[in-house]
Amino acid sequence: MKIGKDTVVSMEYELRLGGSDEVIDSSEGEGPLSFLIGHDNIVTGLEKQILGLTVGDERDIEVAPEDGYGVRDESKLIAVPRTVLPQDFEIEPGLPLELEDEQGESFPVWIAGVEGDQVMLDGNHPLADETLRFHIKITEVRKATATELTHGHVHGEGDHHHH
Ligand code: ZN
Repeated sequence: MKIGKDTVVSMEYELRLGGSDEVIDSSEGEGPLSFLIGHDNIVTGLEKQILGLTVGDERDIEVAPEDGYGVRDESKLIAVPRTVLPQDFEIEPGLPLELEDEQGESFPVWIAGVEGDQVMLDGNHPLADETLRFHIKITEVRKATATELTHGHVHGEGDHHHH
């Protein structure tokens, strides 16, 4: 079976950034990563480039920032009063948080730092502006189940506990 919309893909991967040889993330030790195609589960530049591949295929894939975690936008850096966050919350740069907009939609931000009694929150992904270089190997391709399609993400073996 070839990778296409509504298939579930498992793959081994290594991720490097830009011209660096350092592996910053990989499936080693954790087993292959599984995800559903066509539901925004992985960065678009990677998804586009694995369409049509099948089990055993191995590729080097480069993803530009625009098709990866985005181009840095300084207007997404916002300051909020320290008091907005829970008192006992430990503020650590790089820590991700979920915020809610006026429509109640949640969106991710990362703590950028503290300035006086303000906490700086950054709506840019920590890997914004980075060119992603994946080395991937496809280990499984299967049709998604009806439940996976309804939920918009892959389900593992056994019980499914969430939301
Ligand atoms: Zn689910």
